[in-house]
Amino acid sequence: MVSVTVCVRFRPLSLSEKRLHGDSICIQALNTQSFTFKDEKEEDITFCFDRVFYQDSEQVEVYDFLAMPIIEGAVNAINGTIIAYGQTGAGKTYSMEGLGVLDGDRNKKGLLPRIVDGIFEFLQSLVEMTKWTVKLSMVEIYMDKIRDLFDLSKDNIQIKENKCQGIFLLGATEIPITNSTEALRCLCHGIANRAVEMNLASSRSHCVYIFSVQQESRTDGRSKTGKIVLVDLAGSEKADRTGAGGIVLEEAKSINKSLSALGNVINALTAGKVNHIPYRDSKLTRILQDALGGNSRTALLCCCSPSPSNVSESLSTLRAKLLKS
Ligand code: ADP
Ligand code: MG
Repeated sequence: MVSVTVCVRFRPLSLSEKRLHGDSICIQALNTQSFTFKDEKEEDITFCFDRVFYQDSEQVEVYDFLAMPIIEGAVNAINGTIIAYGQTGAGKTYSMEGLGVLDGDRNKKGLLPRIVDGIFEFLQSLVEMTKWTVKLSMVEIYMDKIRDLFDLSKDNIQIKENKCQGIFLLGATEIPITNSTEALRCLCHGIANRAVEMNLASSRSHCVYIFSVQQESRTDGRSKTGKIVLVDLAGSEKADRTGAGGIVLEEAKSINKSLSALGNVINALTAGKVNHIPYRDSKLTRILQDALGGNSRTALLCCCSPSPSNVSESLSTLRAKLLKS
């Protein structure tokens, strides 16, 4: 059975939320796993998760709880996935990238730069026993099309599968990285590409980071590979049906479709099903197929605002089908 860890993170109130409601928030912490949530009717609902990170949580706490087991797994050839979910502005990218991936305040660095350091620390401790190679790919899924964030000319990458590699992105750039600094430079390059590539707002696309950790034993030459996949999902908010038309509506439909495909896959896996996992229902789930299924570890980080002005979106995030495990 596939293990899925489901966590919630509440970001601090934003300035505009404070302007609207002062310091008031719609949640009350009970402990590190549960809280009560005041809905629109002022009724209290209790939620329980594997772990709740409140407004004052540090990036390192999220890393220790969510990412450490996944890095440990990948080094032992167990694939792992970390998925950030929630409405636009809820803190997905802050949790994944943080502020200043390459330099800046160490405390504000998100999961990605910490994972990079973690991978190389682990591998360094194994250097007597194995030769290793780490590769990094970074793609974006927008309107069900996959774009290479290291080479924007590749804007319709196909997903393939074979015995040897499992699921792979045909022709996608895979940058070999040998140390943290190199990896962080690559990440910054991809992140910058994501940002310039728009009239397309980043909140309308899924961003997928893939670390592949290959090791070859120095004693018997045997090799093994573990993947770590991080996904910064498109905003889960409902499109405003009245105002939305044309491209906005098409985007919303495409996002909905892939998020509900992801929910279906995770539910099927956590229910212990082995056949008929509907990976092929979206590119997102297809890319994640061998990082979610089989012998793998998955963590969901469900990001929310604690403000009374976002009650409805936060509730739908907390109740998402994606999270029913
Ligand atoms: P999303 O990626 O979900 O759209 P962001 O990560 O961009 O949202 O967060 C929106 C804003 O809130 C950003 O300015 C970000 O720096 C800030 N923010 C989000 N989470 C936190 C947090 N845990 N601590 C401090 N600031 C945060
Ligand atoms: Mg974002």
